[in-house]
Amino acid sequence: MQRWRILPALVAAAVSVPAPAAVADPVADPAPAPEGKVLNGVTTLAAPVPVPDVPNGISADKVLVIGLDGLRHDRIAPADAPNLDALISGGTFGTSLLYTSPMAATSSGPGWSTIATSVWPDLHGVKDNTFAGKHYDQYPDFLTRLENTNAAYSTYAALDWKPLADQGTFGPRIDARVALDGDADGYPAEDERVTQVSETVLRTRNPDASFVYLGAIDIAGHGSGAGSAAYLTAIHDADARIGRLLAAVRARPSYASERWTVVVATDHGHTDAGGHGGSSIEERRTFVLASGPGIAAGARPADTRLVDVTAAVFTGLRLAVPGGIDGRRVDTRTGDPFEGVTLSGRTDETGIPAGVLGYSHTPPSGWSADASRMPSGGVQEWRGWAFTTDEFWSRAARDQQRELNVRSRGIFAVADSDEWDDKSHETGTFDSTLVSPAYTVTGRASVTLAYATHYRVDGAQKAQVLVSFDGGADTLVKNYTADAIARNESLRVTVPAGATSMRVKFHYFDATNNWYWAVDDLRVS
Ligand SMILES: [Zn+2]
Repeated sequence: MQRWRILPALVAAAVSVPAPAAVADPVADPAPAPEGKVLNGVTTLAAPVPVPDVPNGISADKVLVIGLDGLRHDRIAPADAPNLDALISGGTFGTSLLYTSPMAATSSGPGWSTIATSVWPDLHGVKDNTFAGKHYDQYPDFLTRLENTNAAYSTYAALDWKPLADQGTFGPRIDARVALDGDADGYPAEDERVTQVSETVLRTRNPDASFVYLGAIDIAGHGSGAGSAAYLTAIHDADARIGRLLAAVRARPSYASERWTVVVATDHGHTDAGGHGGSSIEERRTFVLASGPGIAAGARPADTRLVDVTAAVFTGLRLAVPGGIDGRRVDTRTGDPFEGVTLSGRTDETGIPAGVLGYSHTPPSGWSADASRMPSGGVQEWRGWAFTTDEFWSRAARDQQRELNVRSRGIFAVADSDEWDDKSHETGTFDSTLVSPAYTVTGRASVTLAYATHYRVDGAQKAQVLVSFDGGADTLVKNYTADAIARNESLRVTVPAGATSMRVKFHYFDATNNWYWAVDDLRVS
């Protein structure tokens, strides 16, 4: 079905004129008074949005995704935001950091494309707000994906950053789209109209999956900064609108027999002074918050990332997570043993706040990190393979593409000769090997090694993946000779006849002031 509409610019009426009656709302909902806006010095009232045709859905499982533009998550707690607070305490709240340029800017085009498609910008192609290079044909938004799975699903989207409709970030196969123009008509007023029409749709129609976008928080960030009282007020206002959307859901006559999942996400953060697009930690802050059946209350996973919204939507509808996306479920953890490593604060690094955890040289059970060939000295954090996080590692040195390690999650392993070499050390080069536990390979002709990696090469540095069967000699299975940016690797390895166990080794060596290698989430199957 293709019953969507792009609405024309709003009809504004001067306050001296009675507000127009609700237009084209077949159930004649009592519309709350729209928020006033100032146009050429005259306060006007916006006409309510006509309620679109939303086809009758097919599922008692329902999902509502709420997009809040430019919400820096550490500003939720100081704001008066009881609805977000309740979703956080009753749901799973995974915070993470964005990529930076040259992968993509921390701006809305790439951010919403990442949320909608649940692949990273190197796949969806949107690097900035020109949307040049978009591949929505190959990587559609989650509502379009749902239509492609079964066109009988009822899908609805309402937004007031118009490029998300015009550019097809939320595409034309969605059953009903309401696209307002906050840039032209003002975000607080258009957020209000998005909320009103969405309340009606959620309460009186029957969509299976919905996306509601509110833009005013980002505008407050640009105008006054994320450190301002005005920003907290904008969070409060959006929170009140979220409360109305949730109340509309609960007011559904069929609510008691339904199973609702609510997801909230943001496209980027903001600096304290206001603004984003760059590489500061504050601009890179994002989150995915999910609440609903099967989703743990109060969970704060470190391994959730912004690409996880599609999986949350499909899981909420009790559908399998689509293949070919970067996203994972938010309600289950992968069991990556690196997530269990205990991290410390900085030792030799000077640019990382003392409270930011951190790093460790102690691997999880079964793993080992051989630093016996490392010269003494150098920056302690990076002396040999270390375990670290996106925030700690990218704070160590900004704008050297450490921020592009998007296919790692939570805690990952790093060999960083560039940072290690920033402090004096005994003559010699970085030489360290990370060794996996012994995996059982009895009776197998071959196995597959899968892992996420992020490798940047300079000079003589070398990076090799080796395997050893039953404690025997190492066999080279991968030799990196060029950059491998944010890559998922999958290596087929032949198992010798009679072998029973195999260890995997990541050997980084012949390196000083060169670059680095990151590895995460090794799986042997
Ligand atoms: Zn913005």
